[in-house]
Amino acid sequence: MKLIYSDENNITVNHAKNILENAGIPVMLKNEHTSTGMYPQFMYLELWVMNDSDQDKALELISTLKTNSTSVEWHCPECEEENDSSFEICWNCKHEHQQ
Ligand SMILES: [Zn+2]
Repeated sequence: MKLIYSDENNITVNHAKNILENAGIPVMLKNEHTSTGMYPQFMYLELWVMNDSDQDKALELISTLKTNSTSVEWHCPECEEENDSSFEICWNCKHEHQQ
């Protein structure tokens, strides 16, 4: 088994797990039920692949996730609201985002 991904944000780890499962890679989570403890920094949810041979493919899939999650927001030129990078129009005033 190989540790592929760990994050303090359980939602992100579960998202990564879903991506790998959808790609047909057997995975498991560790520390899933240790949300409280004396040393919370050691309790990050961990995503492991069952087969070492899946490591490269898994890391490649997860790297896409990391890129997406850190993509920058954009500011609407009309109302100056912040929009998520995945939005094509401003959520506030519906102004179309100029790529
Ligand atoms: Zn706007």
